Amino acid sequence: SLTALCAVVTGANKGIGLAVVRNLAELGVQVVLTARDEDRGLAAVRSLHSNGLTNVLFHQLDVRDPSSVTALACFLADRFSKLDILVNNAGVSGVDVDAERLKALKVDPESWLSGKATNLVNGVMEHKYEDAVVCIDTNYFGCKRVTEALLPLLRLSPIGASIVNVSSLRSELRRIPNAAIRAELAEVEKLNEERIEGLLGRFLQDLKTGQLHVNGWPMMLPAYSMSKVVVNAYTRVMARRHPDMRFNCVHPGFVKTDINWNTGIGTTDDGARAILMLALRPSGGPSGFYFQETTVADF
Ligand code: NDP
Repeated sequence: SLTALCAVVTGANKGIGLAVVRNLAELGVQVVLTARDEDRGLAAVRSLHSNGLTNVLFHQLDVRDPSSVTALACFLADRFSKLDILVNNAGVSGVDVDAERLKALKVDPESWLSGKATNLVNGVMEHKYEDAVVCIDTNYFGCKRVTEALLPLLRLSPIGASIVNVSSLRSELRRIPNAAIRAELAEVEKLNEERIEGLLGRFLQDLKTGQLHVNGWPMMLPAYSMSKVVVNAYTRVMARRHPDMRFNCVHPGFVKTDINWNTGIGTTDDGARAILMLALRPSGGPSGFYFQETTVADF
C-alpha cells in the first residue's frame, strides 16, 4: 500500500517540487519536503499541514552543500528503515533575467518550446561564467550528490526504489549541433561520471573562452541545457549500474514557475503528473528512460 512508502523531494518549497510533495502526501505517502532555505521550507510544510497533510516532514537540504546532503542522509537513516522514492527536482536556470525585460521582448511560450526563440533570447539570456558553474553544480552535481548519499537507504526499499530526475526538453541530444559530442553522450556502454564530468569541463572552458558556438554546443541556455543533458546521461549510467532500482529522467512539461519567469503554460500539478507516474511505478517498470511528460522519448 502507498501508505508504507517513504519519499524525498528536493527543491520542494515551491513550484513543481511542492506539487509533487502535495500529490504524494494526498496518496498517503510519507514525504520529506526539503528546501535549501529553512524558512521557505517550513512555510511550505505548514501550509500542507494546515490542509491536513500531516504526513509531510521538513528537512533542510542545499544540494550544493555536501554537509547539508550528509545531514539529510543521517536524518533519514535515523528516522526511516528505507527510502522508496527520490525526486531530484531542485534546479536553477543559470541566468538572471529581468522579468520586465523578458516581457518587453514578448517571448511567447511556443517559441520557447520549439527553440525558435534562440536568436531573440540570446544576448538577453547569456550565462555569466559564475552563474553557469552554479547551474551545473546545482542541476547535475546536486542530483549526483543527493543520489549517492541516499543510495544506501534506497537499496533497502523492498519494492525497488524509484529515482526520478527532473530534466527538460533542453536535455535532448538533437539540440547539440556537434555530432561528436552527441555521439559521446549516446554511447551508453562507455558512459560514466568521469566521461560526463570531462565533457562538462570542456564545455565550461569553451564558455569561458567564447568558443561555444564554434565548438557546436547548444546556444539556447547553454549551461542549463548541458546540465540537463548530463542529468540524463547520469540517469542512464545509474540505471545500468543498479538494475534493482529504477532511474528515469523526465521533462515535466512547460509549467508556469519562477524558473521561467512564469512564462510557462501548465500548472504545477500538470508538471507533477509525469513525475508522480514514474515515482509510483511498481517494480518491474521502466528504468534508464527519458520521458517527455508521460511518454518515452529519444534521449
Ligand atoms: P522553481 O524555480 O519554482 O523551483 C526550483 C526549486 O529548486 C526551488 O524550490 C529552489 O529553491 C530549488 N533550488 C534551487 N537551488 C537549490 C539548491 N542549491 N538546493 C536545493 N534546492 C534548490 O522551478 P520549477 O518548479 O519549474 O523547477 C523544478 C524543476 O523542473 C527544475 O529542475 C527545472 O529545471 C525543471 N523544469 C521545469 C520546467 C518548467 O517549465 N517549469 C520545464 C523543464 C524542466 P529556492 O526557492 O530556495 O530558490
